[in-house]
Amino acid sequence: MPNIKLTSYGAAEEVTGSCHLLNVDGYRILIDCGLFQGGHENYLKNWEDLLFDPKNIDVVILTHAHLDHCGRLPKLYQKGYKGKVHATGPTIKLTQIVLEDNLQIMTEKAEKQKIAPLYSSADLMKLNISWLKSDYYQEVDLGNGISFKFHNAGHILGAAIVELKTPDKTIVFSGDIGGHHMPLVKDIDYIETADYVICESTYGDRIHEDLTDRNKKLLDAVKRVTLNNSTLLITIFAIERTQDILKVLNDYYESHLDFNVPVYLDSPMAAEATKIYQEELSYLNQEAQDTLQRDKDIFRFPHLKITNSSRDSKKINSTPPPKIIMAGSGMVEGGRMLHHFGRYLSDKRNHVLFMGYQVPGTLGSKVLGGDFDFDYYGRKVPVRAGVDQIDGFSAHADQNALLDWLEHFKNPQKILLVHGDAKVLPIFSQKIKEKLGHDSQVIELNTPISL
Ligand SMILES: [Zn+2]
Repeated sequence: MPNIKLTSYGAAEEVTGSCHLLNVDGYRILIDCGLFQGGHENYLKNWEDLLFDPKNIDVVILTHAHLDHCGRLPKLYQKGYKGKVHATGPTIKLTQIVLEDNLQIMTEKAEKQKIAPLYSSADLMKLNISWLKSDYYQEVDLGNGISFKFHNAGHILGAAIVELKTPDKTIVFSGDIGGHHMPLVKDIDYIETADYVICESTYGDRIHEDLTDRNKKLLDAVKRVTLNNSTLLITIFAIERTQDILKVLNDYYESHLDFNVPVYLDSPMAAEATKIYQEELSYLNQEAQDTLQRDKDIFRFPHLKITNSSRDSKKINSTPPPKIIMAGSGMVEGGRMLHHFGRYLSDKRNHVLFMGYQVPGTLGSKVLGGDFDFDYYGRKVPVRAGVDQIDGFSAHADQNALLDWLEHFKNPQKILLVHGDAKVLPIFSQKIKEKLGHDSQVIELNTPISL
């Protein structure tokens, strides 16, 4: 019987930095190698030495393109990893955009923060020649009696659950999982057989608002800008949420042709990512594919303007209200939304919509908390604008959807919890024991568990 050990080097009792090492009789498989995010202190952890030697890793499997899952992959190569990275086609394309963008942000910040970027474009190049593409449900043989298969995670385009088989065990890594009835991606796959399930817990203590509520809340805010002659700022995450929001706006604008408030998509990365959605149609759900057959571009509508250059971004300011600006980053730790905050937050007619979870410590979480003066390059900007949050566009399953997914496993030996806030994990673990009767445990950082 092989000796199997699992050790987490990130997203253990926290929400970011996903990095899990499975050692099967000395064959080392790394699942994800993501960035730590949320506040400066957390961010600095990315520069600390890795707690394992990348030279000893045999293979890497990447679940999806979010930065907190892929952000430290180039660092692996910088520190001597020479192997391959398995991922789905959309994940490979999206990760390239995400890491390029992140390198640019880190380079811009480098002088101010007095720390060099975490990786160079040469490290990124080493990663980009090491991809191995596998589609969902394709069995990939890793040798030594070990194989894996990707399943659809229903999270963002190309996101995968990893079902990994050793000679005598099945181990399932959830990656990040989504719920049902997402506007674009297909519903999550259920899996019935697993000895161990390593499950994310981001929303382990919360229930999302339902689909109609979230669309209504968004469209109410959109309509309000004409009544108040104001500016609506929508903080976006470049992948999935942006495309979901564009689809809702597309449907509204195309059925309300007299509504002519301009929408600025002020994020070159989001615009790039949107193109990949159009290239990877087979990964979209049937409804989205059908709509695309009729309406060539479900992400474009009258009055949508994409601003690529920073010059065009600055010009948005000279357009009088009403107007709507979608920009990143999602938690406003960088990106163009910072400048829009500087311009619009002090006017109480304006409104900010946060599209999802704000990690504590981020600027987004502070503005959302209210009673806060935003420091814009040394100038204090009082937060007077209305501030609101819509969780329903999150690509993460809420507590009900997580439990529903876990319930489909027949007799797992143990559910191991990762990717959750330290306060949320024990609550979710208890819920699993009570509702499903499965044994459950919270994984601790750098603490090997025998499977
Ligand atoms: Zn994710």
